[in-house]
Amino acid sequence: MHELALAENILEIVKGSMSANGGGKLKSVKVRVGELAGVVPESLDFCFTALINGTEMESAKLEVERCDIVAHCLDCGTDSIVDGMTFKCAACGGGNVKVISGNELQVIEIEVEDECDNN
Ligand SMILES: [Zn+2]
Repeated sequence: MHELALAENILEIVKGSMSANGGGKLKSVKVRVGELAGVVPESLDFCFTALINGTEMESAKLEVERCDIVAHCLDCGTDSIVDGMTFKCAACGGGNVKVISGNELQVIEIEVEDECDNN
């Protein structure tokens, strides 16, 4: 299951980042997923929740931000957002394009609640 491996990966990044920053309680994790990464956000969220269930991170939320597919035209040099699955340049209409964005899966934000804060 693709999403499970990704969720494990995300969790590793989160743990690494948290221990580097002195720990605390994980509140939320924001990830950016490209349209081409083949990730179903609901499924990723489900796997992530299953992994943190029963750990001290179990109240954390996973936020998934979708990002567009961007194609770079090799003919005219324009970068355009790919709408649907038609890979052509929005400026000149040419099909000589290279996808430069849309495959990513990145952890972009980790929010940690400071244990010293409220109670
Ligand atoms: Zn073009």
